[in-house]
Order: sequence, then structure tokens, then C-alpha cells
Amino acid sequence: MWDFETDPDYQKVLDWADEFVREEVEPLDLAWPHQQFVPLDGMRRKAIDPLKQEVRRRGLWATHLGADLGGQGYGQLKLALLNEILGRSQWAPIVFGCQAPDTGNAEIIAHYGTAEQKQRYLKPLLEGELFSCYSMTEPHAGADPTMFTTTAVRDGDDWVINGWKFFSSNARTASFLIVMVVTNPDVSAYQGMSMFLVPTDTPGVKIVRNVGLYGERADEGSHALIHYDNVRVPSDAVLGGEGQAFAIAQTRLGGGRIHHAMRTIGLSRKALDMMCERALSRETQGSRLSDKQFVQGYIADSYAQLLQFRLMVLYTAWEIDKYNDYKKVRKDIAAVKVVMPTVLHDIAWRAMQVHGALGVTNEVPFLGMVTGAAVMGLADGPTEVHKTTVAKQVLRDYQPAEGTWPTEWIPAKREAAQAKFAEYLEHEVGNL
Ligand SMILES: Cc1cc2nc3c(=O)[nH]c(=O)nc-3n(C[C@H](O)[C@H](O)[C@H](O)COP(=O)(O)OP(=O)(O)OC[C@H]3O[C@@H](n4cnc5c(N)ncnc54)[C@H](O)[C@@H]3O)c2cc1C
Repeated sequence: MWDFETDPDYQKVLDWADEFVREEVEPLDLAWPHQQFVPLDGMRRKAIDPLKQEVRRRGLWATHLGADLGGQGYGQLKLALLNEILGRSQWAPIVFGCQAPDTGNAEIIAHYGTAEQKQRYLKPLLEGELFSCYSMTEPHAGADPTMFTTTAVRDGDDWVINGWKFFSSNARTASFLIVMVVTNPDVSAYQGMSMFLVPTDTPGVKIVRNVGLYGERADEGSHALIHYDNVRVPSDAVLGGEGQAFAIAQTRLGGGRIHHAMRTIGLSRKALDMMCERALSRETQGSRLSDKQFVQGYIADSYAQLLQFRLMVLYTAWEIDKYNDYKKVRKDIAAVKVVMPTVLHDIAWRAMQVHGALGVTNEVPFLGMVTGAAVMGLADGPTEVHKTTVAKQVLRDYQPAEGTWPTEWIPAKREAAQAKFAEYLEHEVGNL
């Protein structure tokens, strides 16, 4: 059955969320910019706790996890419809308890954690009272995890971690880190790497600097270069068993990537909304911008690109719900990841252009979106690597042609068609 309609009851929920985000949450982006991942205190807690409370009351808190894992059990499709609303605002995912990277981190602890690990890390994470960090990329290697060199070595009942990690987002405010390290250098990296849950205040966890993105002030950086310097953790700090890091990373990154895509729909739509409003508001050379064919082209291309992307994301979310196994949806998650930066970039760029000089200022959000698009092309793996994944998965359904000519080579097919219909073709010739 194919159906492109949202269930009317859920649509009411979405309508409420849309108004709530615009009226109550988006103002937080301006009142406390870049503060989402700083644990709440003082006035911020007074302003934000009631909003979180309202979200909980409506049953929309932490909808990314299934009921069996401590969430609401909404599934990815309903989450996609909600996330595209939340994507408008930096603070909205926090207020709804579904912010990256904590969603992905919660998901792997829920899947692979022991009862004690869930109690210690997952419960407070789901309650929105602490933040987490995923510490995988190294200064010399990111896209290829088989090159990682950070190690954990057994020492009695403990493990001792040594090495460097780069771009560990939110480490500065996270309560714990999920660190991917080599535990057995004698086997392939796919079997020899493990994940560890490490409290950030463990002696030896040294945040050397917090790298900021372009446009952020020097003190706003949140992507840490970390030196793990003889970090001693007990044996129960291993997540999901020794050698399981690659399997865990796939679970984590599958969810993380599609959630980014859902929010990117919302951000791209914000740019399109702004572009349309500006096109209708501004006049030059005797007519409105919306009457110029170039601008109409920008709007049409943006609308079509966003619609294509949205359908792709919703379909992939539906597939995840159907199969409940990221591996089975790997091709389409990778394809979504490939398309995402271009969609956001193109729509934000056109909206910026239509706004003229105002478009490139810090009084409108477009250059932030363009930087965001560049980030989307790198975070959770570069576009090129995901394209390779898509291509490999697509090629699995094909075989080489038998012989020299393509299967669809017309001369051979024509000959076969002529043989198939020889009786009738001869009759036609006979009637001439
Ligand atoms: C905003 C942001 C947040 C991030 N947060 C985290 C985080 O929380 N935790 C974490 O561990 N990491 C994080 N990362 C790091 C991210 O996962 C890496 O940047 C990414 O995996 C690429 O690694 P790299 O930067 O080392 O690039 P490299 O691996 O050096 O790749 C550089 C470029 O080489 C090309 N390339 C690489 N491999 C291939 C290939 N197979 N085929 C063709 N071309 C290729 C691509 O153009 C690629 O962009 C974050 C990154 C960003 C930008």
C-alpha cells in the first residue's frame, strides 16, 4: 500500500510542534546562541525546563528510541516528520530530547549496553540531564577507521587507553565519552577494535583544545582534540564486548545520519520560505523579484530539490521501521547522506542571492547554512565514501554482460524480436 498522508491525529501533534517551535523554542536560538550543549543552570534552566516539561506532557520526548529501549516507540517515519520541524532551530532537538550526537550514543548504549551501563549512562541521557561525546576520529585519520592507532591495553582488571582523538564534538560539556580504540592489533581492525565508555573526568582525559567552526568565536569551539594519556578504566567500561567497535559504529552512524537528514529538510525549508517571502517583497526594474524568470528558476529548482530529498528521507525512514536493521537500509541511508549537503547548500545559496547584500550578513542565517552544508559533507563520513558505498551496493544487483556486446545491444535484440514475430512479419511483407 502506498500512502503519502499523515495520520490526522499525528498531524495535529505536528501542528502543535510547529507552532511551539516557532513561538517558544526559536527565540532560545537568539537568547542563548551556541549554549545548547552547556548543562542547564540558573536562568536557562528556569526558561527551558518548562518547555521540556510541555514536550514530555505531549508524549514527544526522546521519540528516537523504541519503547523497548526507553523511548516513545514512534519509529523513524514519525520522527522524520517531527524532526523536519525541529530542524528550524538549534535548540529544538534539545527541548525535544533528540539531539545529535546524544541520540546515536543513546541508541548504541540501549542496544549494546549492560544493565549497569544503561542505568549509569543511558537513563540520565534520556532524561536530558547530561551530554555525551562520540570520540572516534583521530588527527591523522578520519574516513578510514582501520588507520586508527589509539589503543587500550589490559593491565590486571583494568584497561589503559593511550592516543589522540580529533573533532570529538561536545567533549567539553559531555559527562562521558564513547571512545573507539584498538584492543587487538594482531587481528584485522574489523575484529580488533572496541568501544569504551569513559567518564570525562577520568584522570588522563586531556582536552588539548576545542576547535571552532568558521564564524564561531575562539571560545565557542566545541570539537575537541583529546589526548588520552594513560586513561585507566575498569573492564566493565567496554561497550558491547571486545572487538565489536565496527558493528557498533554502523548502528550509531546509521541513525545519526538519517536524523541529520530529517533536520536538514527543516533547515532547507526555512531558507526556501525566506527566499519566497523576499521574492514577493522586493521590487527592482519595474517588477517584483518573484516576476523575474531567474528568481522563479531559483524557487522552482529549490522546491523540486527539497521535495525529492524529503521523499527520499521519508522513504528511507519508512524502510528503517520496516526492516528494523540499519544494514538492510545501508544503501539508501548512504544515498541520503550524499544528497543532503547539496540540497541545503543549493537552497541556502539561492536564498542568500535573492536577499542581495543582506543575504551575506550575520543578520540572516544563510552563510551559517552554507557552512552547515559543508559540515554535512564531512561529519559522519565524507560524501565520497558514502558515494562509494551506494555504488557498491547498487552494483550488487548487476552481472557483467555475457560476451562483447551489452545485453541491451539493439542489433541483437532486433534480431531476437524479428525471430519472435517472424510469422507475422513475413505475413506483413507478403501483404505489401
Ligand atoms: C562538525 C563536525 C563534527 C564532527 N563530530 C565528530 C564527532 O563527534 N566524533 C568524531 O569522532 N568525529 C567527528 N567528526 C569528524 C568526521 O567524522 C570526519 O571529519 C570524517 O570522518 C572525515 O575524516 P577526516 O576529517 O579525517 O578526513 P579524511 O579522512 O582525511 O578525508 C579527507 C577527504 O579525503 C577524501 N576522501 C577520504 N576518503 C576517501 C575515499 N575513500 N574515496 C575518495 N575520497 C576520499 C574526501 O574528500 C575527504 O573529505 C566531525 C566532523 C565535523 C566536520
